[in-house]
Amino acid sequence: METLRQRLRSIDQKGYKAYKAIEGTYRFPTFTLAIDHVQGDPFAEPSKVRVIVPRAKTALAAEWTDTKPRRTRCEDLLLRRVHRELRQWPLRARGSGKSGLVLIDAPEQKVLERTAVQVTDETVTVCLSVGLPANGRRILAKEAEAIFFEQIPSVIERAVYGLREEDIRAAVELADQQHAIRRYLREHGLVAFVANGAVLPRESGVSDKPLQRGAVPFQSPPELEIAIPVPHRAEPIKGMGIRKGITLIVGGGYHGKSTLLQALEHGVYDHIAGDGREFVITDSGAVKIRAEDGRSVASVDISPLIGALPYGKETTQFSTENASGSTSQAASMIEMIEAGASAFLIDEDTSATNLLIRDGRMQALVAKEAEPITPYIDKARQLFRDYGISTVLVVGGLGDYLDIADCVIKMEQYVPFDVTGEAKRIAAEMPSGRKAEGGESFGRIRERIPLPESLNSQKGKKAKAVARGRHVIQYGQTDLLLYALEQLVDDSQTRAIAAALLYMERKGWLDGKKTIRQLLDAIEEQWDRQGLGSVSFRKGNPGELARPRRFELAAALNRLRSLRCIQ
Ligand code: ADP
Ligand code: MG
Repeated sequence: METLRQRLRSIDQKGYKAYKAIEGTYRFPTFTLAIDHVQGDPFAEPSKVRVIVPRAKTALAAEWTDTKPRRTRCEDLLLRRVHRELRQWPLRARGSGKSGLVLIDAPEQKVLERTAVQVTDETVTVCLSVGLPANGRRILAKEAEAIFFEQIPSVIERAVYGLREEDIRAAVELADQQHAIRRYLREHGLVAFVANGAVLPRESGVSDKPLQRGAVPFQSPPELEIAIPVPHRAEPIKGMGIRKGITLIVGGGYHGKSTLLQALEHGVYDHIAGDGREFVITDSGAVKIRAEDGRSVASVDISPLIGALPYGKETTQFSTENASGSTSQAASMIEMIEAGASAFLIDEDTSATNLLIRDGRMQALVAKEAEPITPYIDKARQLFRDYGISTVLVVGGLGDYLDIADCVIKMEQYVPFDVTGEAKRIAAEMPSGRKAEGGESFGRIRERIPLPESLNSQKGKKAKAVARGRHVIQYGQTDLLLYALEQLVDDSQTRAIAAALLYMERKGWLDGKKTIRQLLDAIEEQWDRQGLGSVSFRKGNPGELARPRRFELAAALNRLRSLRCIQ
């Protein structure tokens, strides 16, 4: 500790580069400080620091981390506490550039596996970014001393040593309950659960926080209500269960259909207490599927949904730099089957109409032979039968879908009703006049093998894969655009995807033999066994990653304009 103080004093007022001298590890009375990486100048990305606390001196008894969800929850809790304490200090830069900033990769409404705080059996590690202070480019050592000898010790004291058992208990018990519901869904043929009392609408289209005023809490229709036993409370949690198969969400415009579907999309992740969606839980294999014209597609066999295109263009290995609405959505469906999805979440609002439906009149006017598209309405049942993939579909206008639904939920003034019986009756009394075009089976899925050159992040002399916010990865010469991935929910997930792509490239994982599914399995296994940070090349300090699902990683890979697959 005194070494750090001396080193700082000896470089005071010197040029910024002299800060390099403080890289190293220092022993403080209650923790170890590792300065892993010092930034090159005051405007560059802040320096990377780790604070390592002996776990035995904290309230984190072994039982609080005896399962993976519990461990993740404890890490999340500590992360939020450190973030809260850091905000007690002036964020104002003391000097030029990023001088004086002390940051941690803070989460929002979701609990994700992250690298910013890591709890092992022996230690608690907190990763911070520190803007080393300077005036112009002249080192302000006194200011740096204040950060390392006052601010950081005080934050650690309050956030980590100040952690009490009741805080941990509340967080861990919620984690146990959410985990129990997830398991219950898997064991009882359910795709999703929405608890009574859940608050689904969000504050705004750009906020993930709950709507504060006028939210109508969720109340299950009696026919669909189930009760799920969970630990740490006597009463089971009641709410609406969505079964496997084909479920429609219908209702008038602005009555809350998309809001319900979005809650289901987000239910693949756990939410913090007070979010309103704590007990909105969706099978973690559920994937939102939408149209995304303009995206690239590489050698996807979309023939189950779209047959030969004009001028004989085959669709068994469909590639394009500029997909249409229907081809983009069809490609996304096939890609997500390939990645192992368990359910498709689809909203009429964001779908290509002609992929969803071809009604009786269109069938009469345009012969099947002249229409490449087999609409989803004629394939959803086969998809469930052949691949076990359920569908939850929001429809406002496409009544033909009543024919194929197992369950129909009507939203009226934000309240759900089970109208399955009525829907069946209407479907019988008012035939749609259309012929099924889908055949007996969904069709074969050809698993693709990417070629090694698909991953080429070379830009000039350097490899480059850098996340720019949540939806763009600057990848080599081009931008990888992820705007359509509605279940990508955190900038740190995007960073992890960028890191994973770079990792696979450097390790030569694309060897012309592994399928995309095998690559996804391998990354997941790596994350499970060696930790999320193991894909990062940042020496010792992987502090700003959050774990994405395999589906978002697959979606990113599939949108790489350099992706080439074995023909
Ligand atoms: P739809 O898809 O049926 O047209 P939306 O789901 O987009 O309707 O909802 C319309 C509006 O109503 C949105 O602004 C949404 O935030 C709000 N809303 C949805 N559900 C609720 C609710 N339970 N309580 C209050 N407002 C809600
Ligand atoms: Mg809508």
